Amino acid sequence: MTQAVLVTGGAGFLGSHLCDRLINDGHNILCLDNFFTGSKQNIEHLIGNPCFELLRHDVTFPLYVEIDQIYNLACPASPIHYQHDPVQTTKTSVHGAINMLGLAKRTKARIFQASTSEVYGDPEEHPQPESYWGKVNPIGPRSCYDEGKRCAETLFFDYHRQHDLDIKVVRIFNTYGPRMHPNDGRVVSNFIVQALRSEDITMYGNGQQTRSFCYVDDLIEGFVRMMGTEKGITGPINLGNPGEFTMLELAEKIIKLTGSKSKLIFHPLPPDDPKQRQPNISLAKNHLGWEPKVNLEDGLKETISYFKKLLNV
Ligand code: NAD
Ligand code: UDP
Ligand code: UDP
Repeated sequence: MTQAVLVTGGAGFLGSHLCDRLINDGHNILCLDNFFTGSKQNIEHLIGNPCFELLRHDVTFPLYVEIDQIYNLACPASPIHYQHDPVQTTKTSVHGAINMLGLAKRTKARIFQASTSEVYGDPEEHPQPESYWGKVNPIGPRSCYDEGKRCAETLFFDYHRQHDLDIKVVRIFNTYGPRMHPNDGRVVSNFIVQALRSEDITMYGNGQQTRSFCYVDDLIEGFVRMMGTEKGITGPINLGNPGEFTMLELAEKIIKLTGSKSKLIFHPLPPDDPKQRQPNISLAKNHLGWEPKVNLEDGLKETISYFKKLLNV
């Protein structure tokens, strides 16, 4: 059935792919964004489509619209961007969640929250199951994001318990693909852009820290499946690719796939940088019948060809 769907952060990396998918599935989309890290280019192909409407708005302010479903993605996701104005980052997560939950309460809309593996902090349990409560520094440079997202989860579950809201919370692990911001400092985009420009590859720390990278198409499939579950399946559910790689392995793969002559240059590890991260996705497998299909090499090839076009190299 066609639904009126609000996507906050809809002009961002993940939001724009989600808008594409929802339009394809026959829904009417209200794409909301303040264009802090998102861009009109990400959604320009949808402008003019009668099922797509774009609204410049900041989620920290109230919003009165009529809607059936809300995907709440608005929030800068890369450390450079979320640390640029940390107070605004916390406001976006917390006031944004309150406003979107208030909207869902009034319209009786189903509401989805893009939470994050950062709620686990620098984890002591590996891989991370949803039952793990995390190890997060409340006063460090990453806290505006980590604690903002944790508080948003708290609000989602309190609105669920107190007002019977139909909530869907997913914890997203590192995701990559076309439309990542070339300058947002995330590792996949940094390494690819540096490799394509034959610049030094900036390795933070000794490169032994690990991450697990999910290709964007796989993630969006997980979003849609989660939103389609029956009321009462609230999550939180981990969505990510369990394939775990060190940053050195990632750099080697990107150098090989781009045929680049770039060399590694080592910089200090930023404070509170998690040493390892890998999702336990048993819940997603059981509840959503979901697991990622795209391996790192294939996903990197798609992403490299996107950046080649973007950078004109
Ligand atoms: P992104 O920065 O590309 O997208 C975020 C979007 O939100 C941007 O378009 C930005 O302009 C918009 N935005 C920011 N603050 C806003 C505000 N106050 N009001 C309205 N719009 C605002 O990042 P992304 O990777 O697409 O991330 C989307 C969501 O997924 C975020 O909530 C992020 O925390 C979450 N997430 C992403 C990843 C990942 O690996 N990409 C991992 C974990 C969680
Ligand atoms: N809100 C909104 N749109 C709506 C309804 C509410 O943006 O359609 C915002 C409004 O700013 C409100 C917040 O959501 O303060 C929380 O709403 P709720 O009904 O939970 O609380 P209250 O209105 O009592 O503050
Ligand atoms: N990283 C790196 N070089 C870069 C950017 C990031 O070595 O140019 C490292 C970073 O220190 C972290 C990992 O890559 O250990 C993933 O960083 P990203 O910012 O992409 O995501 P997050 O730390 O939020 O998982």
